[in-house]
Amino acid sequence: MLVLLNSIKVNKPQCLRLWIAGITLLVCLMLASVVGAAGQYSSQSDNGITSLYYMSYGESPFSMKYLFADTTVDSTTKIDWAFYFAKVHGQCVLIDVGFDNKELAAKWGVTIKETPVALLKKLNVTPDMIKTIIITHAHFDHIACLPEFPNAKVYISKEAADRYLAAPEDPKIAEVLKDSKRTVTFSNHIVVNGVFTVKTVGGHMPGSSVAEFSHGGKKYILTGDECYLCRNASEKRPIGALMGDKDRNVRFLDEVAAKKQIVLPCHDPSITRKYTFVDTNISMIFGSKPQHK
Ligand SMILES: [Zn+2]
Repeated sequence: MLVLLNSIKVNKPQCLRLWIAGITLLVCLMLASVVGAAGQYSSQSDNGITSLYYMSYGESPFSMKYLFADTTVDSTTKIDWAFYFAKVHGQCVLIDVGFDNKELAAKWGVTIKETPVALLKKLNVTPDMIKTIIITHAHFDHIACLPEFPNAKVYISKEAADRYLAAPEDPKIAEVLKDSKRTVTFSNHIVVNGVFTVKTVGGHMPGSSVAEFSHGGKKYILTGDECYLCRNASEKRPIGALMGDKDRNVRFLDEVAAKKQIVLPCHDPSITRKYTFVDTNISMIFGSKPQHK
């Protein structure tokens, strides 16, 4: 018994040290889990999208009656022709791809300021670096440059792809859309790269899609041509160029307002004024300015 008591006496300081070590370990584990949870929250909130750029390759006058369904007096205003470039999990992503065809530019009165590929080069991005492309709809100004990006997986609604393939304007685009290794189609919605929820709206044209995502606690929506201008959403005025279903466009605008999403269209020159100048014809929605070589 005495031996046992003695051993307890001897072990008391050791016990205390063990207790202190145990409590320290517990506190460290708790801190690590709090930090881990915060990290997880930030990655969930941003989903891996680190930067987004508005790439304005062209400009033209455009009829107000195409911009707003409620236009009564026919006049024109200047619009942009643009697509978006994003960095997601370090990979290069395009939302629509623009066009650089001279005949189409002449037909639509568009001045091509810089080709889409030339604009990307200013961000040190070459066509082979593009790994993902989301096509909102198959009008030439959103899809024509598709064959210039050989390594990209393409996401487009089945309806938009099928309509294009029924009367293809460019056999090279048709080749990409028909290649199931290159192109993924969807009927209602699809999550791309764990960031973008791409969903069909079908107001502007059948199968016309939009892509929503979050960044820095804000909700954004890349509208394709379901909005031509931010004002379509802020003033809840449906677009005029409705080859799809006006009610669908109206419902879309209601949803954007209800979700308080930040609207990112492809034809609105005000985007350049609202966001950060990076280079001529390139504005940064968020992220960091690219390092020039
Ligand atoms: Zn367009």
